[in-house]
Order: sequence, then C-alpha cells, then structure tokens
Amino acid sequence: MHELAVTESVLEIACRHAVKANAVRVTDIHLMIGRLSSIVDDSVQFYWDLISKGTLCENAKLHFKRIPATMLCLDCQHQYQLAGELTPCPKCNSSRVRVLSGDEFHLESIEIER
Ligand SMILES: [Zn+2]
Repeated sequence: MHELAVTESVLEIACRHAVKANAVRVTDIHLMIGRLSSIVDDSVQFYWDLISKGTLCENAKLHFKRIPATMLCLDCQHQYQLAGELTPCPKCNSSRVRVLSGDEFHLESIEIER
C-alpha cells in the first residue's frame, strides 16, 4: 500500500498548485523516481486512475522519470552513479558504500490548462 500513500500526496500537491494557478484541469504530471526506489510505476498509475476521478487532475497523464542513484564509497570517498543494480565501488572495489540519493520519489512539475 506504499504506492497509495505517495500517489495521494502527489494528487494533493498537484491539485493545490492547479487551484492556485486557476487551472481548469491538469494535463500532465512529471514524477521523478530514484533508481533504488521500490515504487512501481504501474501501481502508481493504478491508484492514480482511481483517486484522481472528479478532481482537477482527472485524466492527467503521468510521466515517470527514473533518475540514477548516487553512491559514496566509505573507503576511498569516491562518488559514483548507479544506472542499474547495486555495484561495489568502481575505483577500489569496496562494498562499504552508502546511498546518497536514489530512493526518492517526488513531483517534478505539472502542466495545466487554464
Ligand atoms: Zn572506493
């Protein structure tokens, strides 16, 4: 049910901005999802269709953008980006690494019609 909560918060924020901008409807929603986030696009879309009914965001198209994760090696302080699976430090091969970013989920922008 993790996706339901995040979808609700996206809807809430998008509607609030739409009202402020005097929009008649929201056409597009751009979401950024960190590579390491467990959020599943299809689930967000599923909940979105359900909960956006009757709001300014009804029928708005969701766009998902996966952003790479940034890792920090705790042994050599090297920072690197992950495009896919978790990998050891490319410089020293250490697996003592920390996630700096990459598990976030947020609303990047919305497009509206006035
Ligand atoms: Zn390293």
